[in-house]
Amino acid sequence: MKIVEPKYEILTDISQDGIKELQQIERVARVCYKSEDKITPDGESAKKLVGFLVKQGHEAMLEHSQLSVLFTCDRGVANELVRHRIASFAQESTRYCNYSKEKFGGELTFIWPSYIRGEQYCELNDSEVTIKSSFLEAMTYAEKDYKLMIANGMRPEQARCVLPLCLKTEIVVTANYREWRNIFKLRTPVAAHPQMRELMCPLLMELQKKIPVVFDDIYTYWPADDQTRKGSMVK
Ligand SMILES: Cc1cc2nc3c(=O)[nH]c(=O)nc-3n(C[C@H](O)[C@H](O)[C@H](O)COP(=O)(O)OP(=O)(O)OC[C@H]3O[C@@H](n4cnc5c(N)ncnc54)[C@H](O)[C@@H]3O)c2cc1C
Repeated sequence: MKIVEPKYEILTDISQDGIKELQQIERVARVCYKSEDKITPDGESAKKLVGFLVKQGHEAMLEHSQLSVLFTCDRGVANELVRHRIASFAQESTRYCNYSKEKFGGELTFIWPSYIRGEQYCELNDSEVTIKSSFLEAMTYAEKDYKLMIANGMRPEQARCVLPLCLKTEIVVTANYREWRNIFKLRTPVAAHPQMRELMCPLLMELQKKIPVVFDDIYTYWPADDQTRKGSMVK
């Protein structure tokens, strides 16, 4: 049994300072206003125009650039991601992946929930020790039963019924910028699930650094330091 931290990887190449991405939107949007003559090669006109589009709510223009992100997360978070109907997905399949095979090290991989403390972050009190061991025990049983069912002739798509929501999955989400804005607005506020926030908040902040203007108006609070984050999320 392996337990790993969630993570994301931006699969789409983003140009230096994100200018090419903005220029793509600018090229398209200027058709509406017939203002192609205002395009400047340094990208300043693109920044200005995209800022204007966002402010005006003319977000349809943002549909002309897209981004793919690979998330390594648990099945619970993945279930929430696939609710975003405008996005496209590719997800690791529990029907076709046989985790008892050597390819997977013959073991299951789970995601460590951000709200369960590990002693690598701090000393645990009694109830935290109990929570942690309950979690580990449940994962141990899930793995044992899954492998036992496979060993007794079940296919992965059948044995998966004993797998828990914190099973690690990989899922690629491809969406245009308009849809990513919608995703960030829904998935970064404190009302969103903590494990969703722990992926979406850093992703949003990284994109705000890499692509100017497009996501700047979406505010998120997220402490940069990982240890602070882990500690602060536990009640
Ligand atoms: C905090 C939180 C709690 C949640 N709790 C639950 C829950 O308890 N149960 C539950 O079932 N879901 C829950 N959800 C999921 C939620 O109901 C949505 O399915 C999910 O957030 C996707 O939102 P969306 O429809 O805006 O996104 P998308 O499906 O990506 O759609 C993007 C946008 O396109 C437009 N759009 C898409 N489809 C249509 C359509 N058919 N008609 C009109 N406009 C459309 C809308 O403007 C929409 O905002 C929760 C979500 C959040 C953020």
